[in-house]
Amino acid sequence: MEFEKSKKAFDEAKKYIPGGVNSPVRAFGSVDIAPIFIEKAKGSKIYDIDGNEYIDYICSWGPLILGHSNEKLVNGIEDEFKKGTSYGLPTQIETKMAKKIVDAYPSVEKVRMVNSGTEATMSALRLARAYTKKKKIIKFEGCYHGHSDGLLVKSGSGTLTYGIPTSPGVNSTVIEDTIVCEYNNIDSVKKAFQDSDDIAAVIVEPVAGNMGVVEAKKEFLEELRKVTKEYNSLLIFDEVITGFRLSYSGAQGIYDINPDLTCFGKIIGGGLPVGAYGGKAEIMDMIAPLGGVYQAGTLSGNPLAMYMGYNTLEILENNKDIYDDLQEKAKKLEKGLNEHIEKLNIDVTINRVKAMICIFMSQGPVDSYSQVMKSDTDKYAIFFKEMLKQGILLPPAQFEGLFLSTAHTDCDIEKTIDAAGEAFKVAFRK
Ligand code: PMP
Repeated sequence: MEFEKSKKAFDEAKKYIPGGVNSPVRAFGSVDIAPIFIEKAKGSKIYDIDGNEYIDYICSWGPLILGHSNEKLVNGIEDEFKKGTSYGLPTQIETKMAKKIVDAYPSVEKVRMVNSGTEATMSALRLARAYTKKKKIIKFEGCYHGHSDGLLVKSGSGTLTYGIPTSPGVNSTVIEDTIVCEYNNIDSVKKAFQDSDDIAAVIVEPVAGNMGVVEAKKEFLEELRKVTKEYNSLLIFDEVITGFRLSYSGAQGIYDINPDLTCFGKIIGGGLPVGAYGGKAEIMDMIAPLGGVYQAGTLSGNPLAMYMGYNTLEILENNKDIYDDLQEKAKKLEKGLNEHIEKLNIDVTINRVKAMICIFMSQGPVDSYSQVMKSDTDKYAIFFKEMLKQGILLPPAQFEGLFLSTAHTDCDIEKTIDAAGEAFKVAFRK
């Protein structure tokens, strides 16, 4: 497999773009090779500019639950595009989109569209502070909620990959208002509430997808719901990954917990830039123009993004067996990988929640941030490179989950399992 064109493209990009990329994990930093540059993608396959084909488990980091360039979506968008690309005035598809989300999430009575997950969580926290008239927030170690200042403390995803506990440039006054608790440890949360009566909200990934995949224990989420109510604080579910992925009604549908606010992103944009936050009308109506909490966006509710998102949701809503199919594929992958792991007798743990799946290079169980950190990132890097050589594109970092789509076939999964057998042998020198 040749990577020459990608290498050259990376050198050129580095001259003009910091690190050559517009989002850190794309640089393949932790696997220590030049990133592949992409030419095109279709279904479960992605093609780099050297002409290599890969089975793609990044899937744009989550939005593409229907695979790349899904025909039902891309065929229609041309007409939409010709009508106009952005108006800065309301369109009816924004209402249709909002209704779809409200109908799917009983906890969401009203929803505001933004342009990214970062904007969604940042705005939800501002709203929570305004509603509760309190200052502080609780987040969990290893959870990533985008890159707004107050949430860039002991974060996940790229910050874990690059070992950045708190970003320079984030003021200490901001950090003072962010309390970091331990995921799946309710006592750490209870203690924080006992120590401060100024906590506006707890924000949590109801299944963590940014320190690899780590399932929240049901009692943990239930207790979070109870504690936040008891202390007049809001519970915010960050369903940017899990929303419309874990089930049509997200993690909250599965765990049967109603948070006060929910953040969305990824799938609801069908591959175009979108985020959203929603919740009880009483809270949401505090946002301008009804209330004083200011939040706005030139491109918010962009008609093309709404078209892609709405139609993605429409397909998911009308084909709910998609979720069982996705889970079956994830189970098949899990089983195949576990067979290799047992046979080779290696310290690898597969975490899977529904169709969210992740490969940790350590002995399990991996159910907490401290367990996650025991994973051997060097071994993951070798594994990643061996898989890449065999045409399988995994997330280029240990602390990310694999993303499956409806376009992944049984044959894709079988090829992936076969390749993993070889890659494990190289990574563990077996
Ligand atoms: N929340 C979660 C749970 C995420 O996974 C992400 C992005 N991976 C974000 C928020 C931020 O979303 P965006 O990258 O669209 O700003």
